[in-house]
Amino acid sequence: MPSHIHEVLKILLTNDDGIEAPGLWAAAKALRQVGEVYVSAPHQERSGVGSALTLRAPIKVSDYPVYGRIPDEAAEAFPVTAFSVEGTPADSCIIALEKLVGKVDLVVSGINAGSNVGWDVIVSGTVGAALQGYFRGYPTIAISVGGVRSPLFEAPAKFLGLLASRVRDSEDRQGTLLNVNVPNVAVERIGGVKVTSLGGRSYGESVREEIGAPGQYKIDRNVPISADAGEGTDIWALKNNFVSVTPLRVTLGHQDQTSYVESLVSGLPALTATQV
Ligand code: MN
Repeated sequence: MPSHIHEVLKILLTNDDGIEAPGLWAAAKALRQVGEVYVSAPHQERSGVGSALTLRAPIKVSDYPVYGRIPDEAAEAFPVTAFSVEGTPADSCIIALEKLVGKVDLVVSGINAGSNVGWDVIVSGTVGAALQGYFRGYPTIAISVGGVRSPLFEAPAKFLGLLASRVRDSEDRQGTLLNVNVPNVAVERIGGVKVTSLGGRSYGESVREEIGAPGQYKIDRNVPISADAGEGTDIWALKNNFVSVTPLRVTLGHQDQTSYVESLVSGLPALTATQV
């Protein structure tokens, strides 16, 4: 193909805020300028479910009408097809990649209303869905904006479109898991883009018993913690109005603790072959 003609990307778009979420459609609108967009998203909000899967129960999938979700001015762009999935974010991604859509060139999860930084990526459904793209070797982007109640999607949508076209044009495209966080400010207030490292634990939980309902508890993630928010982390970038792009990988193994754990388990009665 002549070098001035760009390849058309096949893009899977998912999220954890559900198929009705404005952030999902802001992403679809930006991505359809770059390639064909297949939306596969939970039929309702499933934030905070991490990488959970629905096993041993059927998951209902319905065609979702795109008409009215995509503004008319985008009509010249590539088509958008959508599926509503009565499951988790990860279910939506898996069913699309294994059955509904097949192989793709790019997986995107978002745009989530609310940042996903530091250790929050473990509980994030936005990242949980994106992991399924990464596990299959695809270039994958999880993208969030740092505002829950009044999220501004213009800046993240614009950045997502630009990043997707860079993925399209990349000569050595790699399987990546990029966790993108965009400050919740107008485009002109953003100070630039930083490639960052994952910060530490950013939110803790508070638990309260429901008033008038003894034995029922509510968990809120509303206790700010700044264990590692140093310069160069995603938490620092967001606080300083930079777009944060953090490459992630899945390496939970902790070799630094091997000798300590060996001392914990050595010589356990009846389990150690050398023990008499
Ligand atoms: Mn969410």
